[in-house]
Amino acid sequence: MTRYRIALIEGDGIGPEVTRAALSILEALEAEFGLSLEIRPAPAGDSCLQKGGVALPEESISVIRRSDSCLKAPVGESAADVVVRLRRDFDLYANIRPAKGLPGVKSLAPGADLVIVRENTEDLYKGMEFEIDGGAVALRLITRRASERIAERAFGLAESRKKGRKVVAVHKANVLKKSDGVFASACRKVWRGHPGVNFSEMYVDAAAMALIRSPESFDVIVTTNLFGDILSDEAAQLVGGIGLAPSANLGDKFALFEPVHGSAPDIANRGIANPIAMLLSVSMMLEWLGESRRDPVCGRAASSLRTAVNAALERGVTTPDLGGKNKSAEVAAYIARQIHEGRKKE
Ligand code: ATP
Repeated sequence: MTRYRIALIEGDGIGPEVTRAALSILEALEAEFGLSLEIRPAPAGDSCLQKGGVALPEESISVIRRSDSCLKAPVGESAADVVVRLRRDFDLYANIRPAKGLPGVKSLAPGADLVIVRENTEDLYKGMEFEIDGGAVALRLITRRASERIAERAFGLAESRKKGRKVVAVHKANVLKKSDGVFASACRKVWRGHPGVNFSEMYVDAAAMALIRSPESFDVIVTTNLFGDILSDEAAQLVGGIGLAPSANLGDKFALFEPVHGSAPDIANRGIANPIAMLLSVSMMLEWLGESRRDPVCGRAASSLRTAVNAALERGVTTPDLGGKNKSAEVAAYIARQIHEGRKKE
């Protein structure tokens, strides 16, 4: 049996609460599926900054480096110093953000099933900002290499999905002629290697509208860093809110998984944070481990977790953000029981 080393960032605000839920579910999956996980804390975020003056200590980076994957809860004000740095240092260039209608969840677009593939390493998020006389300037870096590899991910993903095998590249090349010109032409070039995929392009303003008007028409969206950040929050809201939105940050050999939402200080320490975005991130992590390590047990555990989450949503075992009355821990306990029940039926 393979033992997987999982680096864990418990984060700030509601981070520790959704982390507790994730740990209880990982324990349930270990017991039911015989998974072997070594959870290794990698402290990072505002609490580290306050204690030791750095948001992402070297010891934590070293724990992450010696792990098979990283599971991260949201961090607060120091988010950019933690996750933007991890994405860059570990070359986690593909941010995968699925937005899919879930059973029992009232939402604007219950039939939507799309994935946003967001370039994760460059664009304005490079942080190249300078003060100039009378203001400031931010540099937007878009390279051919980064654009081609994110496009490869998007086309590969479209080919592996049951949906329409459609990729739409979202950019603003009519205004950002040079930078988005590079991105658009890289997507067109990569498309040539994937002739079975239906490819189109859309300006980001039109895409923001079309997501509201006809969300079901999208399959895979590939886009640059800032546009992807904004559109994925919009897409998350379409299918029931940010408390349900998971994400993966993928490199070629390493990956980090985290909910899309932030540390939500307004509801921290009340036990009411929705743990499902974090749990679906756990499911994405197990799926990735299963695929990258060719371990079917991880894949089965991931699928059982998704089924158990759906059961909780269908039966209205939910936190107040979804109109429910349950605490985070109750939702997690219900999901753990569903995993157990599901195993008994197999
Ligand atoms: P940060 O500054 O770290 O990004 P934030 O709270 O400003 O955090 P979001 O995480 O995007 O930003 O959250 C916006 C609001 O959505 C929160 O203030 C909270 O009310 C709600 N929210 C976010 N995540 C959850 C969750 N898991 N469960 C319930 N409500 C949530």
